[in-house]
Amino acid sequence: MRGLRIGTAAALAWATAAGAQTGDGRPGAALAVTGVHVVPMTADTVLRDHTVLVRDGRVTAVGPSAAVRVPAGTRVVDGRGKWLVPGLADMHTHLFSDDATPDSLAADELGVMVANGVTTARLMIGTPEHLALRRDVAAGRVLGPRLRVASPQLTGREAANARVVTTPEQARAAVAEAAAAGFDCVKLTSGLTLPAYEAIVDEAARRRIRVVGHVEDPVPLARALRKGQQLEHLDGYLEAALGRPSLTQGGVFRLDRWPTLDALEDRTLDSLAGATARAGAWIGPTLAVFNSAFGTGQDSAEVRARPDFVLWPAAPRALYLRAEARYWTAANAEVRTEARRRRYVAARNRLVKAIADSGGRILAGSDTPEWFHVYGFGLHRELQALVAAGLTPYQALAAATRAPAEYLGEAAEWGTIAAGRRADLVLLDGDPRADVRNTTRIAGVAVGGRWLPRAELEAMVAKATRRVGGGA
Ligand SMILES: [Zn+2]
Repeated sequence: MRGLRIGTAAALAWATAAGAQTGDGRPGAALAVTGVHVVPMTADTVLRDHTVLVRDGRVTAVGPSAAVRVPAGTRVVDGRGKWLVPGLADMHTHLFSDDATPDSLAADELGVMVANGVTTARLMIGTPEHLALRRDVAAGRVLGPRLRVASPQLTGREAANARVVTTPEQARAAVAEAAAAGFDCVKLTSGLTLPAYEAIVDEAARRRIRVVGHVEDPVPLARALRKGQQLEHLDGYLEAALGRPSLTQGGVFRLDRWPTLDALEDRTLDSLAGATARAGAWIGPTLAVFNSAFGTGQDSAEVRARPDFVLWPAAPRALYLRAEARYWTAANAEVRTEARRRRYVAARNRLVKAIADSGGRILAGSDTPEWFHVYGFGLHRELQALVAAGLTPYQALAAATRAPAEYLGEAAEWGTIAAGRRADLVLLDGDPRADVRNTTRIAGVAVGGRWLPRAELEAMVAKATRRVGGGA
């Protein structure tokens, strides 16, 4: 990861730029999707054979096709036999250009997200370059998902794009800098002391900036829940359930931590899930990456056959291939047994299901690029992992549409399909409420009313594969 320069002021007027990307880019261009089954995400329902009208980047009408008149000069997309959902939000993603890939290719990376129906994305270890990218997207200079940008990672020890804080004073200063720079939230990762953690959440509350991220020893889950932190990766839950260090973050790489699972009880997980819901915490479990990389494993032929494998640049690909080989050795398997790996996945899935059943709030995040998953593609896998954990397809979809908008306080702007909403729309060839895998069958995407048919989306992925990826 690149070294970071803190303090660049980047205040950004969000909503006012919403209209920049409209129709085919011309201001006032109008779009209509006709005869389509609308999945508005305002409720678990479908509006069959409806027409959605768009002008100036906003939905202006949603009604039965027989009742909605399409104005002359409107670009018409035939939606018969298709489903229309709100644009998807990936609440936890990164870019290859956070590392060695040139920043000049970041726009191509955002194109891959859009091609997968992602119209809002939260970059989870922020840089000044991300703030500039956020401005460029908002101004319509770059075609991409609207960006939210977390601060550089606040850690207790050196790391890439990190702000190391070891004292409460340093912690407060780092939060102040992140807020002044215009980052949307403060991102926490590893090695924070309790006094530093307390200072971070206190200073963030004073400056009304959200705190998101990891929950790692010595910060207990209960403290993070009480402080209103937005929690990623289900960090801290196994430690809270077992009363000892377990598999959170770096714990998965320590063989001596895996036997801790033998003492894990489901009823303890269920009570933690209830506490999470009662605390009103927002949970981004990033199930797909963690479950596949550390629990179930990934078949290498299947990985290589996935469309996003070729997007991996050569150097990080080699790095993860080596890490994978180190993780999956026969010797390790004697302790990191199949039964314990199954328990790891089952425990994470049970937590997510129990949190949802208790009325808790789930956010979909892919945590890509990681372990051969890439943004865009990875979000669809996260939706599938949420369903595999026991959520309904509708609940999984809500975690990537309505819920992120509510979390960000922007439910009036996006996250559902209704008059007045931003025209971020995804046209699908199958019913995602029947089978969430249908979110991958994309016929077209509207980003702020700008319509991109499948051929254009495929060209965006092909271009990124050529320029970012390491090829087959
Ligand atoms: Zn991450």
